[in-house]
Amino acid sequence: MSGLIRNEDVAYVRENTQIDAVIGEYVQLKHAGGGQKKGLCPFHDEKSPSFNVNTTKGFFHCFGCGAGGDVIAFVMKLDHLSFTEAIERLADKIGYQLQYEESSGPSRPTVNKSRLIAANTAAMEFYCAELNQAGAAQAGREFLQKRGFDKAAAEKFSVGFAPDQWDALYKHLKSAGFTDEEMNTAGLIKEGSRGSYIDRYRNRLIWPVRNISGDVVGFGARKMASDEANPNDQSPKYLNTSETPVYKKSQLLYGLDLAKKEIMNKRQVVVVEGYTDVMAAQLAGVTTAVATCGTAFGDDHIKVIRNLLMDSDAFSGEVIFTFDGDAAGQKAALKAFDDDQKFATQTFVAIAPDGMDPCELRMAQGDQAVRDLVARRIPLFEFAMRVVISKYDLNNPEGRVSALNQVAPLVGKIKDASLRPEYVKSIAGWLGLEIEIVNAAVKKVAGKSHTPLPEAPPSNVNLKDPILLLEREVLKVRLQFPELVLEWNEIEQSAFSYPPYQFIRELIDSNLTTSILDVASAASPEVASLLSELLVEPVRIDGEVSERYVGAIISRIREVALSRQIAELKSTLQRVNPVDEAERYGTLFAEMVAMERLRQEQKVRALGESSV
Ligand SMILES: [Zn+2]
Repeated sequence: MSGLIRNEDVAYVRENTQIDAVIGEYVQLKHAGGGQKKGLCPFHDEKSPSFNVNTTKGFFHCFGCGAGGDVIAFVMKLDHLSFTEAIERLADKIGYQLQYEESSGPSRPTVNKSRLIAANTAAMEFYCAELNQAGAAQAGREFLQKRGFDKAAAEKFSVGFAPDQWDALYKHLKSAGFTDEEMNTAGLIKEGSRGSYIDRYRNRLIWPVRNISGDVVGFGARKMASDEANPNDQSPKYLNTSETPVYKKSQLLYGLDLAKKEIMNKRQVVVVEGYTDVMAAQLAGVTTAVATCGTAFGDDHIKVIRNLLMDSDAFSGEVIFTFDGDAAGQKAALKAFDDDQKFATQTFVAIAPDGMDPCELRMAQGDQAVRDLVARRIPLFEFAMRVVISKYDLNNPEGRVSALNQVAPLVGKIKDASLRPEYVKSIAGWLGLEIEIVNAAVKKVAGKSHTPLPEAPPSNVNLKDPILLLEREVLKVRLQFPELVLEWNEIEQSAFSYPPYQFIRELIDSNLTTSILDVASAASPEVASLLSELLVEPVRIDGEVSERYVGAIISRIREVALSRQIAELKSTLQRVNPVDEAERYGTLFAEMVAMERLRQEQKVRALGESSV
């Protein structure tokens, strides 16, 4: 934390900064007479200018959205900076050295942020020049060329090269007047084995990472030496700057400095996976592309983006993720049902054919293909449902019914109830089922999906009942031996008849990242203690827990669940007139037959596998 900037300094910076010059970097301003200038407001969407700057008094005001203030307020609001950061930025611009007052709080680091940014900027310039040198840099140039990036592209993104030497950057920055402490704090050098400083990045292609304001705050660096050529080099393929006073990876988005204005104008942001994907997408005309820097897309990134897409007080705009459709992307998509969903209805997913990333897609099919990829985005909810459905063979009724059982609870989890009927229609279309059947399935689980938990386990329930013992056993093996439970997702939603068990099942299904115990204790102490019980209680088999045993109990629980469902269907069928409602009768009957077949299958498997 910085100390306090002296009041005199704040006043000096404010007085010596041309407000129209600063605002003019973001907004095109036209003279409007009387020391006034006008332009399109950067804080809300508008077609005729209502954003006014009073250049003599040093204030701005927008008559459209009401935003206003002095130059410091403008920089804070536009670039989402703290007051101190805004002053530091403006002071840098006019070349003024700020003085800090001693604060009683945590002491100010001896290295100030503007020196760190200066060191990073000098390093970037050094790396850029190195990319054009003979020798090792050749590999870097070839890497770029192979991915469809010419010299102009490399220059646009200031891609550089760290030479294959121990201390080339260190010597260069030293001669430019930077101290060891400054370079070390910036993460540019590290202590070598002999106690002297060496460069952190060597023989790597370098992408400078800028913050939202365009300051160079760190680097991403890709290893060039192949593992075969250099088996001793165990370093990771990509190195990123570790946390520094100016590099906060949880908030940084690569490419955001270039994309910021476009994101605000188009009210769209496209999140891709890596540095080359950002380059490819932006060069292909997807000018709103950004990527995280060596970390997962998290809450802080959402905040940054939300601020840019905030329209007065409401969030409006689209966030599009390009997933390659792999397991990680699918998990992330399914998690969408668990988050607060504030963001979810504006979240979309774009998947390239053959799982190509934007960089590969651009190489294979050109710029238009990358733009098409983004244009073909689908809503996150739809994507997540299709992921679930894709696991089933829809050519047979069993597959369709199982898919329906898995996907129906997801509809119930959509918080915006007005969206649910749409998804019921879509699911009916994807599965080739009647809308009523999908609707019934959704309604059936909707009541159960937020099973209100009994304060204490119901006293009239006999937990020694063989069916409840079975349910408990299945949960135990799932929790204790997850690697043996291959068919967890096949188990019918109705399989757990005891509400606390059903609750635990939902916890297992919905919390992919957070510790399940944390979630359970947040729900209630009873659930937490039941969960920890299940985690430690011995499995009811002598000897080793085998895949065979697990398969048997899962088949058995499915058989029980299917029997229940069949009984329900039978009773429905009795209420349907086979003549008047022939079509509905036929569908229900077919469904029942399919379930019966599935039940028989499970029964045979349960018996076969348990005859150990
Ligand atoms: Zn405005």
